Amino acid sequence: MSAQAPIRPQAHPGVERIEAYVPGKSQATGGAKTFKLSSNETPLGPSPAARAALAKIADHLEDYPEGSAEDLRRAIAARYGLDPARIVCGNGSDDLLHLLAVAYIRPGDEAIFTRHGFLVYRIDILAAGGEPVAVPETNYTADVDAILAAVTEKTRVVFLANPNNPTGTYVPFEEVKRLHAALSPHVLLVLDGAYAEYVRRNDYSSGMELVSESENVVMTRTFSKIHGLASLRIGWAYAPAAVADRLNRVRGPFNVNSAAIVAGVAAIGDTAHVEKSADHNDRWLPWLTEQITALGLEVTPSVANFILIRFPEAHGKTAKDAEAYLSANGVVVRAVGAYSIPNGLRMTVGTEEANRLTVELLGRFMSANR
Ligand SMILES: *Cc1c(COP(=O)(O)O)cnc(C)c1O
Repeated sequence: MSAQAPIRPQAHPGVERIEAYVPGKSQATGGAKTFKLSSNETPLGPSPAARAALAKIADHLEDYPEGSAEDLRRAIAARYGLDPARIVCGNGSDDLLHLLAVAYIRPGDEAIFTRHGFLVYRIDILAAGGEPVAVPETNYTADVDAILAAVTEKTRVVFLANPNNPTGTYVPFEEVKRLHAALSPHVLLVLDGAYAEYVRRNDYSSGMELVSESENVVMTRTFSKIHGLASLRIGWAYAPAAVADRLNRVRGPFNVNSAAIVAGVAAIGDTAHVEKSADHNDRWLPWLTEQITALGLEVTPSVANFILIRFPEAHGKTAKDAEAYLSANGVVVRAVGAYSIPNGLRMTVGTEEANRLTVELLGRFMSANR
């Protein structure tokens, strides 16, 4: 044994550079009741049909799930008119993002995401041994030219959350197509559409049609947001056949559990419930944006089910103090310092009660003498 041999197992250097993901807090420090507006969960909960389907699974807990989540893939395919063979389900879309990184990024390769983009991309790139490349945004929005300027011969994957979390902003489909057209065919473009169902804009698309007609675009989606099933961990990818095949090689053989499969099938079939959730968001997203802007705060224009609130320096009030004040009064929001937005807070659109309370509390916080 050489003298320099390490005294304990060594993770690879990429792993050493990862800062573990810190989820939104669940508990308020005060208040009679807690309103959790920190993880973009829907205030309407899941479809009642999903709850009912889930109850039936209790009698079959000893059985392995069907490994390819075929029922769920078929239900998703029927809903969107897709080929079920090109859908791969995952234990949340986080699972699929990780698998894409592991399958397509080698040590020394680069992968691109935007400066205020979803934190999971950086973690997945490093876990695969790749080099994360964060590119600047313009007005808290992904900038196609900035992404293209960062592409090198080492680039293997571009991750784009559209709309993005935590900014809530989106890139119009024409721009996504321009990005795709300028990428070499060996570069994989990952379109993360976690909030796609909320977007009501004519110039938006989650990118399904781009996946259908190309070999290097993958779209990921989730049941954690509008479907209200975050606890069950259900995500799916729509991918070119070759990419779906590679994902199926590297995924866990039973990566989607039986409860997730049955609840997911029921949820995707309940389009009325999805519509109701989107309508709720359409009503409260503009209201929150208006009310909070009127308090002298900056609200990034969002098309998702959350808003990014920024505290202008001139007011002398900080996001940190606001977060503490809200929490002391029962409202839990998300600090976004880890997303390079130190003076911002992300707030999920909640119930009417939660939304009104938050606006009232922010008003009191802003008008209080320091
Ligand atoms: C919430 C979210 C996801 C979904 O993660 P799941 O693992 O499916 O719960 C994916 N991407 C973004 C940008 C998100 O905000």
